[in-house]
Amino acid sequence: MDRIRAVEAIPLAAGGAQGAYGAPYGFLVKVTTQDGLTGWGEADSHPAMLKAVVEGANHFDGMSGLAAVLVGRDAMDTAGAWQVMADATHNIGRDGLTRMAMAAVDIALWDIAGKAAGKPVHALLGRQQHAGFAWYGTCGLGPTLEATADLARGLKASGATAGKFGWVPLGSGSAADDEAIVATLRETLGPGFAILIDGGLAFDTERAIARARMMARYGVHWFEEALAPYDRDGYRRLRRVSPVTITAGEMASSAAELIGLIEHGCVDVVQIDLARIGITQGLRVAEAAARRGVACVNHTYTLGWNSAASLHLMAVIPVVDLFEVQVHANPLRDALTPGQPRLAGGRVQVPEGPRLGVEPEPAALARFAVVDGGPR
Ligand SMILES: [Mg+2]
Repeated sequence: MDRIRAVEAIPLAAGGAQGAYGAPYGFLVKVTTQDGLTGWGEADSHPAMLKAVVEGANHFDGMSGLAAVLVGRDAMDTAGAWQVMADATHNIGRDGLTRMAMAAVDIALWDIAGKAAGKPVHALLGRQQHAGFAWYGTCGLGPTLEATADLARGLKASGATAGKFGWVPLGSGSAADDEAIVATLRETLGPGFAILIDGGLAFDTERAIARARMMARYGVHWFEEALAPYDRDGYRRLRRVSPVTITAGEMASSAAELIGLIEHGCVDVVQIDLARIGITQGLRVAEAAARRGVACVNHTYTLGWNSAASLHLMAVIPVVDLFEVQVHANPLRDALTPGQPRLAGGRVQVPEGPRLGVEPEPAALARFAVVDGGPR
């Protein structure tokens, strides 16, 4: 049996190297086994706070940092590790930050499992359904319609045939203001381009329904996170009458929350951020989605481990919509995992190497690691 020897938390900050779009922070977990295997995972939340969840002392096994309860355990027992971490954080928080830190450990353990088995992680998760996916790039909106048109042209120039646009100023003005944004996107991108709109939590149910009807006239592919994350009643009503596909889920950090969205009929497509819930919980969400005929997609804002873990999980899920890819330059992400994910022929490829498929560049790790809890 190969046991866990060490669990290290590595907070990262882009500091002065921050790009125009994308996360200026990162958080990695490195798990090392007694036989010398290493696995890497990431979480998407505040790096210094995640580090505390991993490295906190063990007061007792029901209130402990994650590393203290993991060292010495069988490194291949991903399910057991999840349960032990859940037990250790009962008195710290059964959702949110603790689950996100657990997600990073979980991804690292699946990376180790792939390396030990000599197989891609997806081969350990289920039967492969996809070798790659059509993808979309993500973009903000500009402060003016002209600036938005420029951003849309830039995204299309990256090779994207689908793109997501949203957050402010969408939802901060009138119905006519919102329609002008959508009309500008359609006019700029042309009829064949799949436009996804991110509502950025800006709407109440009635306004969201009105916006969805407007978006249908412009052939919008999906309307994402229009409402507050916990407004299940609102989402259920919106989904029932919307002529446009309704998506949500990126804010969730527990399988229970995502399964709740699915079971309550809130979404046509559930967005799973593996840097917030981990692969082990992602499998549970995928099973619930399959039972209810809900499609799954990744949500990926941060680093290459999120992309890679998402590709492996989505590879075994039968019904997947477009795969999210960050196409804007991000100095932190690009230096850590150059060239990931692999885009070829308009599709993003599922990694086939014997592991998760990403390893950090040592020089980038040294450059971006923070030791005092914040950006340099
Ligand atoms: Mg979103």
